[in-house]
Formats: sequence, structure tokens, C-alpha cells
Amino acid sequence: LSKFRLAALWVACGAGGVGAGSFSTPPTELRFLAVGQGDCAVFRHAGATLLVDAGPHMHGYDAGARIVLPKLRKMGVRSVDLIVVTHPHADHLGGAGSVLREFPQARLAMPEGFRDHPETQAQLREWKLPAERVLWLGREERLRIDRARIRIHCPPYGPGVSVDDGSLFLRLDIDGAAAVFTGDAGKEVETRTSRLGDWSAQVLQVGHHGSRTSSSEAWLRTVKPEYSIVSCGRDNSYGHPHRDVIETLSRAGTKILRTDQEGDLIFEVRDGKFVRRGRVRGKGKGVRSKE
Ligand SMILES: [Zn+2]
Repeated sequence: LSKFRLAALWVACGAGGVGAGSFSTPPTELRFLAVGQGDCAVFRHAGATLLVDAGPHMHGYDAGARIVLPKLRKMGVRSVDLIVVTHPHADHLGGAGSVLREFPQARLAMPEGFRDHPETQAQLREWKLPAERVLWLGREERLRIDRARIRIHCPPYGPGVSVDDGSLFLRLDIDGAAAVFTGDAGKEVETRTSRLGDWSAQVLQVGHHGSRTSSSEAWLRTVKPEYSIVSCGRDNSYGHPHRDVIETLSRAGTKILRTDQEGDLIFEVRDGKFVRRGRVRGKGKGVRSKE
């Protein structure tokens, strides 16, 4: 059933985008938005726009409305097709409410395990989101947007498992360039998941904003990232990223890029590689943590 739904989604992405061959089709890019203490990445390809997480909505501050939507507008995004949310904590899911309101054709995808999660149900009710706009993801899902291939693995979630550890793992492959996302999953889940298929990637979003509970050495050996992206708020009270994680990443020889220090991080795909687009002077400023 879920395969059918995602097949339908692929069609929706193709139909929702800019017409094939149109000169205005935006370039393929992956952008990690500086959203403060939370995650939001935007992938654009073949006229489709996919979000992985949607920024925080915490303590009355909605980064979805205040940061994500203005940035999408500036990027010229006219439609969002899908928001994949790694797990339903407010620093990942919260901003989705405003994005879903602004883009009525956008759909939300989350691990099936959270379907009966009371806070998630309450959130979806508050947004008055019709059931057909929510896709519940099974254990293994595959999604195609033109040349981009996306694999999603949902670790088991249920009694005795934290919401963080229910975070989905997503690997995006475009022309041989890959990026991996793990939400806030901890080291044990990293280890278990590392045995399930190929998680090698040129770009890694560092788990749990650089918390010491994620990013084991073994996981970094599995992914072997050239770039490691830490998405966190300036002066956040969690102490993210933890200095042990920075040390582990440094030892692994990966380039560490932080949204709190550099602002948005933009990658284009060239010759089967993600190439970082140079940062604009004065624009590379992270967002202060609102928590
Ligand atoms: Zn988080």
C-alpha cells in the first residue's frame, strides 16, 4: 500500500513542478537552512521541492513562518511537494504547520510508528490536516523524483523506544552524489541501521544537532562523509554541538559546517558531486537559539 502511495507521490511531484524543458526550471540543489535550534533541509530537483524537516516551533516562536517561508520565497519556490519529517519533536515538525498552510498541495510524510503517538495526533488535529495529506511511511520506502532516488528506513518505534530513536534515516542520491539524514537517532540505532544497506554519503547531516548521544565513530566510518553538517542555534542551551562530537568528526577527517556559524549551507550537484556554493559576504549568519 505504501509503495502505491509513494508511486502516486512521484507522479504528483512531476505534475506539480515547472513544465519539463522550461527555461525557468531551477537548478538541482540541497540547502540546509539556518533555522536556529532545529533542522530543515530543502532539496530541489526537476521542478519538485522536498523538505526534510521543517524547522522548530517552540516557545511561541514559529521558525516555519518566520524563517523557512521567507527563505523559500526568496529561493523562488512556488510549490512544496513533500515534507518528510524525521520524527515528531517540535524542532523538526513544528515549522511544518506554516509550510503546509502556505502550500496546500504539500504533503507530510512521517514514520508509521508515530501514527498513534498522542502529541503527533494532537499536532495534526490542531493543523486540521486532512488524512490524505499525511503519508505514513513503512519500514522501507523508496521515492523517485526524476533522477533523484530517495531511500527511507524507519527504525522500529513503540513502547520502550524514545521518540528520538524513532527518527527515520533518509539517503538521497542524485547522479551519484548522496546525502544522509538521521534526525535525532542515537548511537545504537545508528549501529543497527548501518547494517541495513548502503549509507555512504558525501554529505551527512550530523545526528541530533551534534549531541554526544549520536555520531559514533562506527557510524562515521559507515557514512564516510566529506561534509558534516551541524544544524543548531547560536548559543543554544543544550551545548550543541558537543565538543566530543566535534573531536570525533575532526578525527574522521570530515569538513564540519555549522548553520549557527555559517548560516544557510548550499550544495549544487556538478559531475556527480555535491559542490558547496560560496557563501555570500555578510549573509553567513546563524540564527540565535530561541529556546
Ligand atoms: Zn532535534
